[in-house]
Amino acid sequence: MVIQEKGLYFCENCKHKQHQCFACGLLGSSNLTAGPEVFQCKEQKCGHFYHPGCVAKILYPDNKAKATCFEQCVAGGLEFSCPVHKCKRCKEAENKHDKEMQFAVCRRCPTVYHRKCLPRDISLIEDEEEATPQRAWDGILPDQILIYCRKHEIQEELGTPKRDHIVFPDVRNPGAAERHRGAPQRHDIPDEDELLDRLASCNPSQSPQPAETGRSRVKPIDSFAPKHLFPRPHPGSCGWLDD
Ligand SMILES: [Zn+2]
Ligand SMILES: [Zn+2]
Ligand SMILES: [Zn+2]
Ligand SMILES: [Zn+2]
Ligand SMILES: [Zn+2]
Repeated sequence: MVIQEKGLYFCENCKHKQHQCFACGLLGSSNLTAGPEVFQCKEQKCGHFYHPGCVAKILYPDNKAKATCFEQCVAGGLEFSCPVHKCKRCKEAENKHDKEMQFAVCRRCPTVYHRKCLPRDISLIEDEEEATPQRAWDGILPDQILIYCRKHEIQEELGTPKRDHIVFPDVRNPGAAERHRGAPQRHDIPDEDELLDRLASCNPSQSPQPAETGRSRVKPIDSFAPKHLFPRPHPGSCGWLDD
């Protein structure tokens, strides 16, 4: 649903500054001037929002200390690139000009693989003997494979996971949207000095995305909500496909 406002179209989510975390699916406030709970990926044309804790857990699955550090940095305004821009297996980016390096993207969560890295059980065909359902579809997305990754149980009748529609804010009472228990609250958000200390203590050499956490990424932060963080909303920026 779109709403016309001063000649621009906003979806309900953008209008109410409430967006769904692409990792956990819960709705959170994306209002940068009033204690935001979800933050948008910095990549152009991505549009996915995340709780800092949710994106940190995916980017640093084996390093709790670094995940905590990253979570606090994101909550404090650090720009980040979300997990859909790197292959889950080899951590490399997509190359649309090389068929084997094109992405297979999960429709329900931030999981992507290159064609060549796609696990065998995310199959383009249904295997009735081994009772493995079809989880990958070619020819639906341009130059990409659409998948439902193994986190989502395929419903036999549907041939897809249970429907999981975009969550719209409660229009009568936007504040009533479910709060994410793991989301940092305002008092948890570090001030600038603390933030820089924490960033400095991140060790970039162990990071899968060194450029994201190293000192070179630190920019002066003159307010809690730097404008460059939120160049959007604009129509279609939410990244959600309708079923
Ligand atoms: Zn929107
Ligand atoms: Zn989340
Ligand atoms: Zn992204
Ligand atoms: Zn790969
Ligand atoms: Zn998935």
